[in-house]
Amino acid sequence: MDVRAEISRAIDGFRSKAVAVSHEIHEHPELKFEEKFAADLLTKTIGELGVKVEKGVGELPTAFRAETGGDGPTIAILAEYDALPNGHSCGHNLIAGAALAAFAGLKSAAQQLPGRIVLLGTPAEEGGGGKIILLNRGMLKGVDAAMMAHPTDAEWCTMPALATKHLEITFRGRAAHASLAPWDGASALMAIIQTFQSVDAARLQWKDGSRVHGIITDGGQAVNIIPEKTECQFLARAKTSAYADQMAQRVLRCAEAAALATGTTLSHRVIGGYKNMINNRAMALRYSSHTESLGARSPEAPPDLPTGSTDMGDVSHAMPAIHPVFAVSRHGEGTCHEDAFVKHADTPYAYDAMIRVAKAMALTAYDLLAEPELLRNATEEFRGRPQS
Ligand SMILES: [Zn+2]
Repeated sequence: MDVRAEISRAIDGFRSKAVAVSHEIHEHPELKFEEKFAADLLTKTIGELGVKVEKGVGELPTAFRAETGGDGPTIAILAEYDALPNGHSCGHNLIAGAALAAFAGLKSAAQQLPGRIVLLGTPAEEGGGGKIILLNRGMLKGVDAAMMAHPTDAEWCTMPALATKHLEITFRGRAAHASLAPWDGASALMAIIQTFQSVDAARLQWKDGSRVHGIITDGGQAVNIIPEKTECQFLARAKTSAYADQMAQRVLRCAEAAALATGTTLSHRVIGGYKNMINNRAMALRYSSHTESLGARSPEAPPDLPTGSTDMGDVSHAMPAIHPVFAVSRHGEGTCHEDAFVKHADTPYAYDAMIRVAKAMALTAYDLLAEPELLRNATEEFRGRPQS
């Protein structure tokens, strides 16, 4: 039998298992770095395929790594499985299911693979940057190309995810009775409010496609005390890390001005940041041709598509990589991080899409191993990438 047909057939055969695993993960949402149930279930299922799994790789207890195939180039398929406080509202259970099913399909053709497939379990995409940690700790060393796919409300073979810079700002003022002697105080809350107003005033001058958004995580201690300490967070997003850094600097200048005006002081720390996604077109277009033959059009996304950010961006700056998205809800029915999306991530429609995507990823990975020219094109494109 043709190897590609064998891979597809094996994924169909694995379907009920992949759906059950994905559904179970959906039923047990776990926050970043706490994905114990998901990591245990995934590694147990991979073990049942007759593959050795390394758990806790890169010193992350809920990360894992498995391999199949043999000598030759190495392609990594990445699985996410963390949830948000409102459940699996980003559908990472489907990312895990698709990666698992793709790996199972490729494992069934292990003897005929002209290279190696790595399945890497990557915790904490939602704000923890698990892939960045694993990348820095060498868990993607020797990998020639990497891929994953993410559910949303549309089908694109590329995703222009934005770079981020995540700041936490703390203001310290002076407490005073808010009625008896307010003049004795210096309000750390006013400093935060003025920071938000100054950041809003700066929006006009930021480049198209960039975003900045913040929350107040500590607005004061008691309503009858002039707030002594307050804390907020800002996330600046832009098409490049360099521009996200510039925006974050501007946010800090707004905060400094607010501190000066209110007689408070500030400190800040950088919580983290993701790089923008460099979509490898050679890989993306091959993935797209497979989804099309499986009945779903998956064109390149328009460059100004409103989008979020992902730690896959950092992977895409280290090797050729793709992060296609697939539709599990219809446009207007709710998208990632909305409460409604929790339900969309656990429907027969979503699982059909997950299996289709698993096949498209597995076939793309196989092509990268079997067609040296495709991998060469992807690598050359990566070497010529814009620096940012
Ligand atoms: Zn997500």
